[in-house]
Amino acid sequence: MGQVDEKIEGMYQEVLKRNPGETEFHQAVLEVLESLGPVVAKHPEFLERKIIQRICEPERQIIFRVPWQNDKGEVQINRGFRVEFNSALGPYKGGLRFHPSVYLGIIKFLGFEQCFKNSLTGLPIGGGKGGSDFDPKGKTDDEVMRFCQSFMTELYRHIGEHTDVPAGDIGVGGREIGYMFGQYKRITNRYEPGVLTGKGLTWGGSLVRTEATGYGATFFVNEMLKARKDSFDGKICTVSGSGNVAIYTIEKITQLGGKCVACSDSNGVIYDEKGLDLDLIKQLKEVERRRIQDYTATHKHAKYIAKGNIWEIPCQVAMPSATQNEINGKDAATLVKNGCIAVGEGANMPTTPEGVKVFLDARIAYGPGKAANAGGVATSALEMQQNAGRDSWTFEYTEKKLEDIMINIHSNCYETAEEYGAPGNYVLGANICGFIKIANAMVAHGLV
Ligand code: GLU
Repeated sequence: MGQVDEKIEGMYQEVLKRNPGETEFHQAVLEVLESLGPVVAKHPEFLERKIIQRICEPERQIIFRVPWQNDKGEVQINRGFRVEFNSALGPYKGGLRFHPSVYLGIIKFLGFEQCFKNSLTGLPIGGGKGGSDFDPKGKTDDEVMRFCQSFMTELYRHIGEHTDVPAGDIGVGGREIGYMFGQYKRITNRYEPGVLTGKGLTWGGSLVRTEATGYGATFFVNEMLKARKDSFDGKICTVSGSGNVAIYTIEKITQLGGKCVACSDSNGVIYDEKGLDLDLIKQLKEVERRRIQDYTATHKHAKYIAKGNIWEIPCQVAMPSATQNEINGKDAATLVKNGCIAVGEGANMPTTPEGVKVFLDARIAYGPGKAANAGGVATSALEMQQNAGRDSWTFEYTEKKLEDIMINIHSNCYETAEEYGAPGNYVLGANICGFIKIANAMVAHGLV
């Protein structure tokens, strides 16, 4: 990747020293700081006001014990987090991740990225993230409910419509949001839909929120292709993951004329040369909560590659939609060698710095997560708007708004990259564009 400007290098060293062992957070910070040299050259006031140092330090970090009982009555202890990163542009906004890999470094990388992503949406939302090292895999509905209730019994005092508005992420979907909303309502005695997003459609949720991250990422890639006088039509695509983001990425790619041939979960990869059967994937993952391997039970022609690497399957468009650091330098080189011309990140930070360098050097269309996957949180902000107006919009109206937001993010990143002398570099465009808006608001708010 690039290099950190000498005026900024010391700030990065300070981040390393102040946050030992948090490697994902270091990675996310470095990627942004590498883009900011030309910005501080133009805006000395950002250096004077120590905006970069302030942005790298979360406004508030909450870590708490989450005790609960499993179905056998055994006591379980997990750790809960909420990192309220930056409120310059609006209330803290960002998802909750329930996954055994969660620790402070993961939540801080996600919270940091969220600030820039949310800024790029153009909507009034600050950045935050939370979660727990709770592993939902193999847990019963009742166990998940008891965990969510215990988690919210602490979290409720920190959140609110005008303070901090959590939503879903890996391991947190409609079921978990429902249990948390119920507990929040019970504890506070307030029916306050604006406190969480990703709610069910009959109790304050928004149409298109479920589809939003995947649809949005696909709209973003569509814009990158258009900028190159190309389209999804007839393109062979691979989409890692098989959760909410992957499913609706596959759906939108198919609607736009592309053909998705592979998806995955943490156990293995499904390769279906005929094009993935999305109805079956939805049934397996959304309804029955099963593993993707079961796809081959009814679709004998498809291949299941246990522990396989999806990036070895040749494709023209790759959409990593599983988790952080799932594409390394070698995977990126394989993708480029096999003819991949566009990568759109549905997941947060799915490409390692070595991988990003390969994509940028090859000059393929590379849409980093904080721009490409902003459609999820953008639609959360639309859900907040509907809640505030006690309104609910149609699917078509909401989807059009999402599409317009993604088109806007694309053109802002594209134009910013040109303005700063790096045409086609969406990493630089997204980082600079996201940063400047937050920085200006922070300067305006004084030293807080
Ligand atoms: N977790 C999603 C993200 O990474 C969505 C957050 C939200 O809707 O608040 O942006």
